[in-house]
Amino acid sequence: MNVMAERCTGCGLCLKHCPMRAIKITARKARVDQDLCAECEVCYRVGVCTEDAFEPARELAWPRSIRSIFSNPLTEFKETGVTGRGTEEMKTNDVTGRFRSSMLGVCVDVGRPNVGATLKDVEVITRAVAPLGVEFEGKNPVTYVMRDRASGQLDPAVLSERVVSAVVEFTIPPEKLRGVLEALQAVAPVVDTVFSVGVICRMEDGDHVPALDQVRGWGDPDFAVGPHSKVNAGLGRPGSGPGE
Ligand code: SF4
Ligand code: SF4
Repeated sequence: MNVMAERCTGCGLCLKHCPMRAIKITARKARVDQDLCAECEVCYRVGVCTEDAFEPARELAWPRSIRSIFSNPLTEFKETGVTGRGTEEMKTNDVTGRFRSSMLGVCVDVGRPNVGATLKDVEVITRAVAPLGVEFEGKNPVTYVMRDRASGQLDPAVLSERVVSAVVEFTIPPEKLRGVLEALQAVAPVVDTVFSVGVICRMEDGDHVPALDQVRGWGDPDFAVGPHSKVNAGLGRPGSGPGE
């Protein structure tokens, strides 16, 4: 993203809309820090600039284009045809049917608005879980930029790219859940941003949630299950996907 200096009045109205804090005012002109900018185009799309001073890049070259794929909800990831981080997220399993009742889906959301992440942060996560034999989701841009699924190594060319957030997705058999959570906990201090972990499973016998019982059964305060929940309802017909 660029700002056309000749149009900018330096009013500063755009600053609070940038989720990467990439817009600075210097010498009464807004300027975009290109290292911080995630190419999300929020500044442009919110229409806050009365001078129409924002100028989105016409076409982003690789690897900078990966910023837009992860950060601009209108950018489609061509390999999946999906906008907004480029993946039909695992929590929509009722629609996609990616995994069966004997499997768990795990998603790791790395970064968030006002914090951001680099792909280097994402690689710390992928490298932590790959040796445990997880099955990375193929239709996900993180997996697309992975050079070696056994080690979780990403393409070195993308490691410095900054994004608002990215989601690492993989499946595991239930017995691997504890190892995965412990591996993520171990690398948390060296990941230079925030991340959250989601564990997704199919409900059984109507209202039975196997993953929940499993974690509660450990009785480990490090992995306490709270009453917090988020329900994605009405996304499709349960069990209609190919995994059924
Ligand atoms: S809102 Fe427009 S005119 Fe105001 S500082 Fe931002 S770019 Fe410049
Ligand atoms: S494109 Fe996004 S990250 Fe870049 S300056 Fe605009 S709002 Fe900030």
